[in-house]
Amino acid sequence: MEAALDLGGNRVAYRIRLSRGRRTLALSIDPEQGLVVHAPARVEPARVEALLREKARWILRQLARLEAARVERRAPAWLPELPVPYRGGQLTLRLEATAGSPEVQPAADALIVRLPPLEALDPEPGRIQALVLAWYREEARRVIDERLARFRPLIGVEPVQVRVKEQRRRWGTCTARGALYFNWRLVLAPPEVLDYVVVHELCHLRVLNHSPEFWRLVAEVLPDHRERRRGLRAFGEALAL
Ligand SMILES: [Zn+2]
Repeated sequence: MEAALDLGGNRVAYRIRLSRGRRTLALSIDPEQGLVVHAPARVEPARVEALLREKARWILRQLARLEAARVERRAPAWLPELPVPYRGGQLTLRLEATAGSPEVQPAADALIVRLPPLEALDPEPGRIQALVLAWYREEARRVIDERLARFRPLIGVEPVQVRVKEQRRRWGTCTARGALYFNWRLVLAPPEVLDYVVVHELCHLRVLNHSPEFWRLVAEVLPDHRERRRGLRAFGEALAL
């Protein structure tokens, strides 16, 4: 059920979630749905409105925070001197002219995109984006291979195949025949989060489910795996690519 109310000159939309077992009213801010009112099944609308007015300051503050997070999550503009995400941080895009073929090269805290002189004068964001996305995929492969080499001996497994590919919803996959697939976007995540996904999938080569035995194995390699997993969730929510 959706409704809206004027709070201090702001029109605030909200959802009401009714549940039978509930006796009291509660508010929450959901990243997807915004303001949610949790209410008993037969709540009077006046009671909901009174609570919203009483909590108006808190609500407006929370919604402003949510909006700020949305803005932060906006995809890169793919223009020189602006940031692009990389390994949990940001690199500044820099443009250079080259007589050779276009290339992308990381440097300290920058990502250098080299284009033919005429293109470099008036760069097309779509062109820069395509080059950087291709670089991300190569870089993901390089970083993931390196981390696999680090963790494989600790777990004592050998994948039959490793692929880094486009997958929208999954960070990693382990197939029954022992192949591992990784999402290239992991190269945008903080290193400790990428390591967690690598270890998680490697452990599946020994235990192909999420049983206590599986989590014991993960914990042997990464005792702080729960925290890393939360980091993965937060990273996924903030991802705009
Ligand atoms: Zn799993």
